[in-house]
Amino acid sequence: MLTVKRLHLASLQGPDGREWPVHGFVVTHPAGAVLVDTGVGGPQHVLDDWRVVNRSVADALAELDMSPADIGLVINTHLHFDHCGQNAVFKHAPVYVQRAELRRAEVESPELYEWFGLLDGDAEILPGLNVLSTPGHTDGHQCVTVNGTDVLIGDAAYTPALYGDPSLESKVPGQAADPVAWRASLARLHALAPERVHFCHHTEVVHS
Ligand SMILES: [Zn+2]
Repeated sequence: MLTVKRLHLASLQGPDGREWPVHGFVVTHPAGAVLVDTGVGGPQHVLDDWRVVNRSVADALAELDMSPADIGLVINTHLHFDHCGQNAVFKHAPVYVQRAELRRAEVESPELYEWFGLLDGDAEILPGLNVLSTPGHTDGHQCVTVNGTDVLIGDAAYTPALYGDPSLESKVPGQAADPVAWRASLARLHALAPERVHFCHHTEVVHS
């Protein structure tokens, strides 16, 4: 059985002007530990624009009595600066991302183009640990499912409110680069009927 542990990696100013958390997740299994999203990094002006209060992923892992060396595999839900900013800490680990997302990032943020194991669509990463292609927030966004019961949603929905009511999307800048694809991805997640949904930018865990 895999277990999900949440990391507090940073806070930043969200599109609604409020302070949002930035969460990553450690998924542990008998053979090792997987990190889903690595937190914030990037040029100082970007951090200033988003009013980031940042932490090192090593400090966040230390709260779980872990260090970066304990992470054997990394999955990025997508390649925005607050989800892959500290990937370089994990040079020892394979990193999985959707090929479509890397293609997007190659154009928009070429400095990121280095690390990755490229995925095309849904994939099983380990027994019980899968990625699900959920384009819309970005072209190549993916969510992670654990045990078939837990969804690590990335930015497929910023908040439980958006997850529950997709009509709010038009009021939240940045939620959907492609609103049609975004809605289809959310519908796909709802169809899974996950027991728990864990958010990157909200502390509430949605239970069903
Ligand atoms: Zn994002």
